[in-house]
Amino acid sequence: MDVRNCRGCGKLFNYVSGPFMCPACREKLEEKFQEVKKYIQENRGVTVADVSEACDIDANQVRQWIREERLEFASGASEICCEQCGTPITSGRFCDKCKNSMVNSLNNVYKQDAPARPSRDDRSGGPKMRFLG
Ligand SMILES: [Zn+2]
Ligand SMILES: [Zn+2]
Repeated sequence: MDVRNCRGCGKLFNYVSGPFMCPACREKLEEKFQEVKKYIQENRGVTVADVSEACDIDANQVRQWIREERLEFASGASEICCEQCGTPITSGRFCDKCKNSMVNSLNNVYKQDAPARPSRDDRSGGPKMRFLG
């Protein structure tokens, strides 16, 4: 059994998984999350700072929810940037472009796993490509 100090109230509790928080604080945080989510839905265009102040919640916690894709802000208001290229994003960790290129490179890895080696005949086609101009 893993006993930890709760990050919220400091009490010792039996840690299982997830954030270092006791069940009571997790429940409180979940209630807070619902409050924050509602606030963002009702006030489109608010920033992380606005939410932090209005709902009395740590801005870092709000950003963490954004990273976890639990919250989504209006474009430009999240103060969250793609971890790959720095483009402002509304939710998650990467922009669509980087997500797509990651998916593509994953696909390429799968393709490379297939036994599809370039045949040596490709070489004989080489000279034909010269002097085309
Ligand atoms: Zn606690
Ligand atoms: Zn990106």
